[in-house]
Amino acid sequence: LPAAASGSFPRVARESNPGGSHIQVGNVRFGDGNFVIIGGPCSVESREQIIATAKAVQAHGALMIRGGAFKPRTSPYAFQGLGWEGAALLAEASRVTGMPTVSEVMTIDQVDRMATQVDMLQIGARNMQNFDLLKAVGRCGHPVLLKRGLSATIEELLSAAEYILSEGNPNVVLCERGIRTYETATRNTLDLSAVPVLRERTHLPVIVDPSHGVGVRRWVPAMCRASKAVGAHGLILEVHPNPPEAKSDKEQALTFEDFAAIMADLATIPLSHSIPQVTA
Ligand code: PEP
Ligand code: MN
Repeated sequence: LPAAASGSFPRVARESNPGGSHIQVGNVRFGDGNFVIIGGPCSVESREQIIATAKAVQAHGALMIRGGAFKPRTSPYAFQGLGWEGAALLAEASRVTGMPTVSEVMTIDQVDRMATQVDMLQIGARNMQNFDLLKAVGRCGHPVLLKRGLSATIEELLSAAEYILSEGNPNVVLCERGIRTYETATRNTLDLSAVPVLRERTHLPVIVDPSHGVGVRRWVPAMCRASKAVGAHGLILEVHPNPPEAKSDKEQALTFEDFAAIMADLATIPLSHSIPQVTA
C-alpha cells in the first residue's frame, strides 16, 4: 500500500482500528460476526405498502427496513418520492416492527430533520462526492450508509468516508452497489472484488446492494450468496408487495416469496469474515 494512499484517509484506514469497527444502528450492529440484512422498497409509496413490506421482511429475518422518501431519479418526470410524508411512514413502520430504518438524504437541509425520522442516513451513489453533504452528515453524528458512486474508485469511496469521519462521525457503513462499465446486460457491474479490497483497506463494515448492482430480479439471489461468501457484513435488498406496480425500480424488486427464498439460501452459506492471509 503506497503511503500517500493510506495517508489520505487516516481515520478510515484499517491501521487506525485493525480489529475492525462495529457500527451500532438502534438494536442492530454492523461488523465482524454479524450479517445484517436490510430489506424494503425502493420508495415508500403508502402506509399499507411500507408496513406490509416491513412485516414480511422481518418475518424472514431482516433486521432493518429501507425505504426512500427523497428519490434521485434520472428523469424529473419520474416519481420523486413522498418526501417527509414518506419519512414519517417509515418511522411508523419502525414503531410497528421495532426495526431501525435507513433512508436517503439528498441535500444538506434534509439532514437534521431526517435524523429525527430514521436511524441511519443514506448517501446515495449520485452524491458520494457531494463533499458539503458528506460534511453535513459528519457533523450530524447519525449513522451513515455511504454508497459507492457510479464511477467512483475504491480510493474515492474511502476518501468520501474520510470526509464523514473527519467531521467527528465514526458511524459509517460502506456499500458496494455496482459501478458503470461498458457492460449493458446488467444495470450496473457489481464489483464484488471491492469487498475483499475494502475489508483489507478499512476497518469500516462493508455491505452489498445486489438489487441496484444487477438491476434484474432473477439475478439478485446469486449475487446475495456471492456477497456473503466474499466477506460482506450484510446486504441491502429492494422488496415490494407487488413489483410490477412499484413506482421506482420495479425490474429489480423482489417479491416477499423471493426474499424468503434468498434468506433460506443465505442460511446455508457460512460467514466469511476472516480474511485469508496470503503473501501480498
Ligand atoms: C436506492 O438505494 O434506492 C438508490 C437510489 O441507490 P443508489 O444511490 O445506489 O443508486
Ligand atoms: Mn432503488
